[in-house]
Amino acid sequence: MAIRVGAHVSAAGGLLTAFDRAIEIGAEAIQVHPTAPQTWRRLALDDAAVAAFRDRMAATGLDLFFFHAVYLVNLGTPRPELLAQSIGSLRHYLELATRLGVRGVIFHPGSHRGQGFDTVLPQLAAAMGDVLAGAGPDVRLLIENSAGAGDNIGSTFVQIGRMIEAVRDPRLGVCLDTAHTLTAGYDIGTGAGLTAALDELQDAVGLERLLAIHANDSKAPLGSNVDRHENIGLGHLGDDGLRRICREPRLDGLPFLLEVPGLERQGPDRANVARLRELAGLTPLPGPTPPAPAPGAAPSPRREPTRAGRPGG
Ligand SMILES: [Zn+2]
Ligand SMILES: [Zn+2]
Repeated sequence: MAIRVGAHVSAAGGLLTAFDRAIEIGAEAIQVHPTAPQTWRRLALDDAAVAAFRDRMAATGLDLFFFHAVYLVNLGTPRPELLAQSIGSLRHYLELATRLGVRGVIFHPGSHRGQGFDTVLPQLAAAMGDVLAGAGPDVRLLIENSAGAGDNIGSTFVQIGRMIEAVRDPRLGVCLDTAHTLTAGYDIGTGAGLTAALDELQDAVGLERLLAIHANDSKAPLGSNVDRHENIGLGHLGDDGLRRICREPRLDGLPFLLEVPGLERQGPDRANVARLRELAGLTPLPGPTPPAPAPGAAPSPRREPTRAGRPGG
């Protein structure tokens, strides 16, 4: 086996367009925002649209398909109306994923807003239980680890393990974002640090719950709690750190989804896919080799994307 190099791609123009964009950049696994991530909008799909999606998935073989939840979701909020909206949005996404045969929904647990993790844990557990109540048996709800800024929940594997333990549902999994992991204080850029982090993940969560990796380099350093993704090889993980992560036997077979800014600041691109494949020791993409990501290798037509504007997260 080997890792599967995938990417967050846009679904602007409809979910089917994500397959085309993934193929264009050589991605073998896909993550999308099915709806704009700064809104509570719902996506209405009739049975014909669902059938078309399933047909396209079967035809392309791109069945490692994930949704990323909207950024407004906060299961730790003290505000009842925001909690209800968050549960409703995640339920909707899991229902969509169930109908479409999408693997799972990746979400940020949110912020406890000063209440403390222990205080909000029962609320988190009840909310995740509610969310999963409407989902099919094969779909997964993936908790993404956070960088640990402010009162954000889920920056330690112990917290994530306690959330999973409190729900006890086999459909609950974890998505590990490599940039968030580093800035949350796990030194996964070194061999010893990676081993220690995975040991802790094994103890606190269980590696069988780990279902996806967000493969990002980090503009921000170890322990900074800052969430800023960087192109592959150009950040604080670097080529050496990411090569070790890609080749780590305990992560073998997992989808590695890029959420990098891209050389043109348009999101994950063929150059970053090619670079991660190379670091992982996988066969090169067909066609001309794109340039490896390099500082200033291409003009940046846009300013640094905002938190809201960049893909994934
Ligand atoms: Zn995310
Ligand atoms: Zn992420």
